[in-house]
Amino acid sequence: MGGGPMPLPRPAPAGPIADARHTCRMKPAPALTYLSGYSVDLLERAGALLQQQKVLPTLVARHGALHAVRTDGALYDYVMALKGQYLRSSDPLARVAYDNRLHVVRSALGLHSTVSRVQGGRLKARREIRIAGLFRQMPEPLLRMIVVHELAHLKERSHDRAFYALCRHMEPAYHQLEFDARLWLTAVEAGEIPGGSNAPPHPVSGKAPT
Ligand SMILES: [Zn+2]
Repeated sequence: MGGGPMPLPRPAPAGPIADARHTCRMKPAPALTYLSGYSVDLLERAGALLQQQKVLPTLVARHGALHAVRTDGALYDYVMALKGQYLRSSDPLARVAYDNRLHVVRSALGLHSTVSRVQGGRLKARREIRIAGLFRQMPEPLLRMIVVHELAHLKERSHDRAFYALCRHMEPAYHQLEFDARLWLTAVEAGEIPGGSNAPPHPVSGKAPT
């Protein structure tokens, strides 16, 4: 990516198919929907990796191969281990699960929710964490980033300084990992990294995880 807008494609010629076929070989510039808000410098480096289709080897070299936390049960154990290490005294979690539709429906990468209900005459809060299914196939540090993000919401509701300080307490490389996770998702969307049925049918907004 040179930073400037890509030139618009020429109008399709009315003549031979050969020209059209040539046009079809061109790869469209990958949309940087997950990366909005980052500096131009970072975006240019990310864009270059995307254009060269080197996001997968770059991030695997940096963070290791895909993790083995594939099921909701494994994810629950993974989340509870981190919670026990850093947030032992916070509210218990009623449910932890991967959600394949999360980023499509809510444009979110992760979700923490609190459902309040009356139980035995008292108001009980039932807390859940959902992680976008796309994180099922990623290097472990990138999964850790989104889990740390959602766990931090058990104590800090909004994305303020205290929230990110807590994220960095649990994972000192939090910000680098969030960028790399977003870069990974961008490469899935661009088709470099297989995302299977989890791939969004349309570009989703670059909204930060909730
Ligand atoms: Zn959030």
